[in-house]
Amino acid sequence: MPVLVFDLDDTLYPELTYVHSGFQAVAAMLAERTGTDANTLVREMLMTEATQGRGKVFNEVLRTHGCLSAGMVHACLRTYRQHTPTLHLHPDAERCLTRFADWPLYLVTDGHKGVQARKVAALGLFERMRHAYITNRYGAHRAKPSPYCFEQICRREQVPPAQVLYVGDNPSKDFVGIRPLGFRTVRIRRGNYAHLPHAASHAAEHEIDSLDELTEDFLTTLFQS
Ligand SMILES: [Mg+2]
Repeated sequence: MPVLVFDLDDTLYPELTYVHSGFQAVAAMLAERTGTDANTLVREMLMTEATQGRGKVFNEVLRTHGCLSAGMVHACLRTYRQHTPTLHLHPDAERCLTRFADWPLYLVTDGHKGVQARKVAALGLFERMRHAYITNRYGAHRAKPSPYCFEQICRREQVPPAQVLYVGDNPSKDFVGIRPLGFRTVRIRRGNYAHLPHAASHAAEHEIDSLDELTEDFLTTLFQS
C-alpha cells in the first residue's frame, strides 16, 4: 500500500503560531522581572520580529527593559524551547489526515529534538502517524536532504520509494535528496518558502496550494504513473 509522509512546519500547521506561542511563554517569564505586563512584552516582541527579524527579539526586549545579559538571553531561549505550545493544524491538513486515516502515515521533520517532539504532541500527531521521524534523533547529518529517515520508512513498510509520497513546503531541502532515489514529491506553496525560487534540481514532482488537492483520485493516478 502507498505511504504518505508529511513535513511538519508550515506543511501541517503555521510555524509562526509556534513562534508566537513561544513569545507568550517568554513574556510570562519576563513579566515579573521587568515589572511590565506580559501582553505589553508580547506586543514589543512582535514589533521587533516584524521590523528586525526573529533573531533579534530576545536581545531587544531585554535591552528595552534594562536586563540584557548572556544569562538572560539563555533563559529566554530555554523558556522558548521548553514551553508547551498551543498549536492547531491547518484546516486542510486536518481534513487530509482524516481522509487518509486508514493509510500508513508518517512525519519527517528537522529541528531541535525536544521542540519538534513538543510540537508533534501539541498537534496530537503521535496518535495519528505510524511514526514521527525527528531527523535530529539520528544525528545532525540525517537532517533533510538526507534520505535516511525516508529509507527507514521504506524498510518498515516493505515498499519501494516509488510508493512513498513526501509532502513538504521547503524546496531548498525537502525534495532534492529523495526525488532522485524515486520517492514521489509534492510541494505545498505556503509559509516562509511559498515564493522561494528554486533550481529544477530542487523541484517537487507536483505543486499544490492546499492539501485538499490531495484526493484519492490524485494519489491513485500518481502512484500508478
Ligand atoms: Mg516545513
